[in-house]
Amino acid sequence: MALGTHFINGAPLAGESQQRSPVYNPALGEVIYEVPLATEAEVNRAVAAAKAAFPAWAALPMIRRARYMFRLYELLNQHVDEIAAAVTREHGKTLDDARGEVQRGIEIVEYACGMPQVLEGRYSAQVASGVDQFSLRQPLGVSVGITPFNFPIMIPLWMAPLAITAGNSFILKPSERDPAASLMLAELAIEAGIPPGVLNVLQGDKTAVSGLLTHPDVRAVSFVGSSAVAQQIYATGAAAGKRVQALGGAKNHLIVMPDADIEAAATALMGAGYGAAGERCMAVSVAVPVGEVTAEALREALIPRLAALKIGPGDQAQVDMGPLISQAAHDRIRGLINSGVQAGAELVVDGRDYKPQGYEEGFFMGGSLFDHVRPEMEIYTQEIFGPVLSQVRAASFEEAVSLASRHAYGNGAALYTRDGGLARRFVQEAEVGMLGVNVPIPVPSAWHSFGGWKASLFGDTPMYGQDGARFWTRPKNVMTRWHEGEGERGAAAAFNFARSAG
Ligand code: NAD
Repeated sequence: MALGTHFINGAPLAGESQQRSPVYNPALGEVIYEVPLATEAEVNRAVAAAKAAFPAWAALPMIRRARYMFRLYELLNQHVDEIAAAVTREHGKTLDDARGEVQRGIEIVEYACGMPQVLEGRYSAQVASGVDQFSLRQPLGVSVGITPFNFPIMIPLWMAPLAITAGNSFILKPSERDPAASLMLAELAIEAGIPPGVLNVLQGDKTAVSGLLTHPDVRAVSFVGSSAVAQQIYATGAAAGKRVQALGGAKNHLIVMPDADIEAAATALMGAGYGAAGERCMAVSVAVPVGEVTAEALREALIPRLAALKIGPGDQAQVDMGPLISQAAHDRIRGLINSGVQAGAELVVDGRDYKPQGYEEGFFMGGSLFDHVRPEMEIYTQEIFGPVLSQVRAASFEEAVSLASRHAYGNGAALYTRDGGLARRFVQEAEVGMLGVNVPIPVPSAWHSFGGWKASLFGDTPMYGQDGARFWTRPKNVMTRWHEGEGERGAAAAFNFARSAG
């Protein structure tokens, strides 16, 4: 497989740019290769390829496009281990976690196989005398996906399968930190028979993004990344007349009620807080025990679990947590932990200096646990995106839910309880887009849709599922009148506004 190239019009393209970005193996802290950052000319080339591929692709019957998805589904399943290995090598997460990521992405391809039904039209006969009405959805044209480093295959698969099965051509601009999985996807799409130019990969940074975002031939942009960039993408794309959905960062709370099974909650918090080194938009970064007794019990249950956390290279068996993505991420997270200590939070477990033996150059950090975190502290207001769990003690259920609801982010939240009534209130009242009741990371299934509220999603359409299918298409409404015999000939002109019953 080609590494460090673009993939345009069905083939790898080396790229002419002198601007290149290093791709690291974060477990070793070593550069593996460099990826070219697209120039404006390469942006134009990718858009031209996608534009040229669009008409014939859009004209195919939807069922035929769906059949390509069946083939892609088979091929992806055959290559799970290979893709997962690439994800682990460049991102650092454990192989098991990477395999899970690939599988969750494949579920969207599976869903896309059923797009003819998802996008079936509507028909109403006789909306007025002799008049029938139908509604259909059509693809938009050249569409774009811009994805973050933390799910280098799943998030591209949140977008591309639905976009292209709906009939669009697609340009994927993956994260420059771990771009190999996107190239694998593009190659498998060609092997599945999807025509050249339908699924392109353009490597790059903000130059490529701004070129795509304002290109007159681009119709829709789907973005996932940090909130500051998401907000800017949304504003710029919308001003340029594009359809935009831009998913941002998160600060997910897990509320633990006094009646909850504390051991189960602590175990859930470990996976949700430290899995993938906390580099998940659905990671739980805030534990909210209700009542002092719950808080003490939860803290005591977490401490030995943190001591038992196995940290090392993601390709080694038995490892729970791999390295961070980069030294810059390490520095940023260390800075935030320092700020928490300075602000007076209690650093119960300090992971700042942890390095597994033999991997001192890797971007490793141990798991950290804060207690007595208060809402005004930077470690609470900011997304840390690292292996740091903050315990914020609440006196009541109401206070706990209000914390999650008042936070600037509104991606996910969970409640651990045995009380069905409280759980129901939580579901009704929390101002957060994705909720779990005794489920720590409630990532919706492929046929539902993924998206948070507030600063976690700019735009109004979440990803994948029916909402995704709608995002990648536009509605068309048609009225028809077929007369037998004379028809309107000879009828008087109607100057009033036609009524349905007319
Ligand atoms: P990021 O915002 O740095 O980068 C995301 C994408 O935008 C990348 O492709 C990058 O090349 C590009 N980019 C970066 N800076 C840009 C700029 N100034 N202008 C234009 N494009 C730019 O995010 P990241 O560090 O790759 O990913 C982590 C972030 O993504 C976290 O905030 C995380 O919460 C968020 N995330 C959110 C979701 C979600 O569904 N809400 C899912 C995964 C990750």
